[in-house]
Amino acid sequence: MFKITKETPPYFPKKAETMPFWESFFEKNLKAFFQDKPILDSIFVHKEAFEVIKNHIGFGKDTEDNQVEQGGLLFGEVIEYKNEDSEENKTKFIGIVNYALAAKTAEGSMRHLHFNHATWHSLLEEHEKIEEKESKKQLIGWYHTHPKHLQVYFSHIDKENHLTFFDADWHFGLVLNPQREEIKCFLGNEFDEVLCILE
Ligand SMILES: [Zn+2]
Repeated sequence: MFKITKETPPYFPKKAETMPFWESFFEKNLKAFFQDKPILDSIFVHKEAFEVIKNHIGFGKDTEDNQVEQGGLLFGEVIEYKNEDSEENKTKFIGIVNYALAAKTAEGSMRHLHFNHATWHSLLEEHEKIEEKESKKQLIGWYHTHPKHLQVYFSHIDKENHLTFFDADWHFGLVLNPQREEIKCFLGNEFDEVLCILE
């Protein structure tokens, strides 16, 4: 079985206060959502990345290709944020997706997306190429579709996939229904549903 293994040091989410871009990013993209309330676990998908996903899965369309499950990988950054005044003062994760990579060889079916060996192999090869070009592109999660009449949720098989390939508490999983234009976002090994923010 293929695993995401790399020789580079393991990735850890970056603390918000140490990120130079955080203040301006928050002002521009998140402030309107949270206003004066505590920040929640969430994932922010930059327009460029969502365009890749939209084009791949025919979001908002009913096409020949999107009758079966499709999927891919999400790259970006994860910010660790502590709400100072929150009663629980619990660490929150904010995923920032800068880039998405569509899996071309996944064998979709109406029920499951089979990320088979070939799929992971080609995705990981692509991933290596990206990293050579731009080292800051960190793999932070994955996306896949539940087409047509299927509900948007993390199925038993999705949970297994997630725990196999994305086992950190800051890994995100997105599920989309292209025909219904629905999207739900899940986080970590408890698969908590979190806020999805599309730029
Ligand atoms: Zn699924």
